[in-house]
Amino acid sequence: MAARTEIESYANALLDVARFRDYGPNGLQVEGREEVRSLVSGVTASRALIEAAIEAGADAILVHHGLFWRGHDGRITGWLRQRLALLLAHGVSLFAYHLPLDAHPELGNNAQLGARLGLQPDGRFGEQDLGFIGAPAQPQTLASLAERAALALGRRPTVVAGDGRPLRRVAWCTGGAQGYFEAAIAAGADAYLTGEISEPQAHYARETGVAYLACGHHASERFGAPAVAGQVAQAFGLAHRFIDIDNPA
Ligand SMILES: [Zn+2]
Repeated sequence: MAARTEIESYANALLDVARFRDYGPNGLQVEGREEVRSLVSGVTASRALIEAAIEAGADAILVHHGLFWRGHDGRITGWLRQRLALLLAHGVSLFAYHLPLDAHPELGNNAQLGARLGLQPDGRFGEQDLGFIGAPAQPQTLASLAERAALALGRRPTVVAGDGRPLRRVAWCTGGAQGYFEAAIAAGADAYLTGEISEPQAHYARETGVAYLACGHHASERFGAPAVAGQVAQAFGLAHRFIDIDNPA
């Protein structure tokens, strides 16, 4: 058992939240009961996750995608009211860590995905150094890397071939990081792997020769939250469970 405030301080320091400019508040987003025994982690603070966490007896939830984002008009209506009402009625705290959870060198989404794909990071690229770049531990072709991603994520990536060059350097950034493709190319990547693809990236891949793999936003971001929550749970002797709410995106 631990005080909610201690968990907040520990997780904020672990993820170095003060270093990031982000699209939403990192750390405690919704204040629940003061003592925490049981922690549930998940990718997104959706109503389905909140309901499942309440069902599992959680005192707190730790997610990558929280409730409050820049650009939202601030009204507590509709889906936001429903999610908040559940948290408040059950005294469940919500901790959310967005970019700090992508970036953590061992527990973050990028580090955890790289480990599952056999990619060894030796550098960073892109805005706020969020992107990872490195060499495959074993030689990979585009087809073998795509196969490895399919096995690790349970979902076939959308692949746009480059010019067929050997994959000496692979860059990756989980989630909706299609906008980092040009930075990955500039950093020397032979292939770039992320969650999503938008229309322009297919052309960039064909025209620059750098292959592009879109592996799913949710699928590529399932590993950081449980790694961080597991570390928090271990530090305080809490029960912890990751609950995956399936998402085709
Ligand atoms: Zn995301």
